[in-house]
Order: sequence, then C-alpha cells, then structure tokens
Amino acid sequence: MLLKDKVAIITGGAGVNGLGFASARMMAAQGARVVILDLDKAQPASVAVTLGQQHMGVVADVTNKASCDAAIKAVMEKMGQIDILFNNAGITQPRKTMEITAADYEAVLDVSLRGALYMSQAVLPHMRARKQGSIICTSSVSAQRGGGILGGPHYSAAKAGVLGLARAMARECGVDNIRVNCITPGLIETDINKGLIPADRMTDILSNIPMNRIGEPNDVAGCVVFLASDLSKYCTGITLDVNGGMLIH
Ligand code: NAD
Repeated sequence: MLLKDKVAIITGGAGVNGLGFASARMMAAQGARVVILDLDKAQPASVAVTLGQQHMGVVADVTNKASCDAAIKAVMEKMGQIDILFNNAGITQPRKTMEITAADYEAVLDVSLRGALYMSQAVLPHMRARKQGSIICTSSVSAQRGGGILGGPHYSAAKAGVLGLARAMARECGVDNIRVNCITPGLIETDINKGLIPADRMTDILSNIPMNRIGEPNDVAGCVVFLASDLSKYCTGITLDVNGGMLIH
C-alpha cells in the first residue's frame, strides 16, 4: 500500500470518466482516504461514497478563495490531516487567438491557474505544520507544444502558467519537505474531449504518438500515485510527461 494513512484531496475529482476520479480510485486502492472536491453540480459527496464510507466529498469552486478555504476547513475537521493535493480541476475551450474574449480568458485561466494557487495556499499551512506534503499540479502537453490538439492559446497559457507556479512553489516549499510536481498529460480520453475530435483529425494525432493510441485515465492516475507517494520522495519541481511519446524529437 503506497498511500496507507495518507489523506489526499483531488480537485475536479467528481467526473467519473475523468483523470481526477481515476486518480482518486487508484489512491484509495493504495490505502489513502480521499477527498473528492468539485463544483456542486458534479455532486462530489455522492461520487466519493462510491469509493467507500471513509472517503469524503466536498463542494468548492477553486476559482473562489473563500470557497477553497472553507473546503479545507471542512476537510481538516473530518479527516484531521492533509498529505496530498492533486490540483486537477481544469476546463478548456477550442478558440483561435482572435476569438478569445475577456470572459473566455478569465474562465480558462482561473480554473487551472488561480485554482491551483488558491488550493495550494489553503493546504500549505497544514502541510507545513507536519513538515510533509505532496502537491501535484495538472499542466498539459498543450503548454509544451503550444496547443494544437483541442484547447486554444489561452488554455496553453494557463497550463504553461501552472508549470511556472509549481516549480516556484517547489523551490519555496522544499525546505519544509513539501514536494510540488507537475504532470503533463497528452491526449487522454475523458469527458473534456469526448466527441470533439473528428475521425480524420484523430488519425493525424495518432500518427504523431509513438505508442499509437490515445491515453486512458489510469495511465495518468499511475503517475499521480507515483508523485503522491514516497516512491518519488526526492522529486520536486519535475514535469512528468504522460503522452505515449508525443514529445520525442
Ligand atoms: P473533466 O472535464 O472530466 O474534469 C474536470 C473536472 O474539473 C470536472 O469534474 C469539473 O466539474 C471540475 N471543475 C471545473 N471547474 C471547476 C471549479 N471552478 N472548481 C472545482 N472543480 C471544477 O476533464 P479531464 O480530462 O479529466 O481533465 C482533468 C485535468 O486534466 C484538467 O486540468 C485538464 O485541463 C487536464 N488535461 C486533460 C487532458 C485530456 O486529454 N483529458 C490532457 C491534458 C490535461
């Protein structure tokens, strides 16, 4: 059991076909008590209970600081500790540069980037008090190659911002034995892209993936468990690519 006696919070974890829930399920299988944090409409409590009574669901909007702080207060009251934060919540929009409105920019940047900051700020005092913690932030191959699959330039910018945020937090928090790392998934089959990529485009995408398949949520979950666990206890500030070889060049 890699995560025995650990408490893990997964933001955006209630989508049962998503990367967050796959990671929550794998963390629970490795002994963690998990907290599924998501928007009210995603019903995190009813999703958490499907993993067992020891787990918890909490409603929060990661773009709202008061909401993040209230969620962490509730988690501390019920679970008593926080060992792992998986900053997974994110949204995307297919847009060209000239189509991005102010509202689009705010929506996309706020969930991935502001949300990762607010949630990290909410958990850090509790991690610092116990001199341990692992924070995993979700960037994307879109940050590394400048989009080109689904999300617009504002999505690439949000995910590139996550890389900088995570590395800077890693530098600051290492002294407290708190690790901060990023995953950069390639194209993984979830609700975020379901039905949005035409067949001819998919053939083109696959021709650039050496493993010749798109990813499945458990491909990402395994890497998240690695970064959450002591297997990676001397890794901080790293970017772990999970993309079937898409970036080999
Ligand atoms: P998903 O749509 O299944 O999951 C996103 C979750 O975030 C949902 O449960 C949603 O309710 C939640 N969410 C949205 N706004 C929120 C908010 N303000 N507060 C709290 N929760 C909120 O998509 P997914 O594919 O599982 O994506 C998970 C993460 O992985 C995202 O950050 C996404 O950008 C990133 N990502 C996905 C892929 C992919 O191909 N699927 C590739 C690279 C990166």
